Amino acid sequence: MAAATATPLCASTLPPHYSNTSPKSFNHSHFTVAVPRNIFSSSSISSLRQSKTTPLSALPSVSAAATTALDAEQAPSEVSATPSKALPFRVGHGFDLHRLEPGYPLIIGGINIPHEKGCEAHSDGDVLLHCVVDAILGALGLPDIGQIFPDSDPKWKGAASSVFIKEAVRLMHEAGYELGNLDATLILQRPKLSPHKEAIRANLSELLGADPAVVNLKAKTHEKVDSLGENRSIAAHTVVLLMKK
Ligand SMILES: [Zn+2]
Repeated sequence: MAAATATPLCASTLPPHYSNTSPKSFNHSHFTVAVPRNIFSSSSISSLRQSKTTPLSALPSVSAAATTALDAEQAPSEVSATPSKALPFRVGHGFDLHRLEPGYPLIIGGINIPHEKGCEAHSDGDVLLHCVVDAILGALGLPDIGQIFPDSDPKWKGAASSVFIKEAVRLMHEAGYELGNLDATLILQRPKLSPHKEAIRANLSELLGADPAVVNLKAKTHEKVDSLGENRSIAAHTVVLLMKK
């Protein structure tokens, strides 16, 4: 996610369109990808759950976690995505930033926005969906999107970020929570988002399986200062409230 790296972390974080029920092929704007069967079981996610004593470097890679998950499907589940403390409400925050470069599509909330630049990323570079995923994962006490979908894995190249949203929503329900409400803020100098806000909000609501009334989207400029204000990057913040079902 850091724009300072050649390949943004969350960029490589994005897997192809993904279904946890059956292998599928998805066509997402400029790419088509094959989708593996459930690669993120609760056990694999739990193994990724960051403890106070586990350094990030000690966490398993995604591919290793996926292998473990497949193996674990044969054995009784010993862990789940259920947070260790069952709170009636859980709050999560997500942040993401991508560098804007010519030659890339600008995809925000799954919607292709006409612009002379797009997000340079290993995946589709959807800054909004990435930070929504991180907000949900954060509320559940899970590791961030970069740890679950590492950019070191070429299978996520060109992936649609909707895959991550669907996986985060699956984990949310598995943990016994539902979306209370979501509030997101996009920060970009150009293009103007007002003509696209409703389409983005509608698509995001659908991906989340939520009523659009609980999904709010705001957009603002960066007053022409710094990379955001100079049309060299785009950022997003998201806060979610999850409620125990
Ligand atoms: Zn990102």
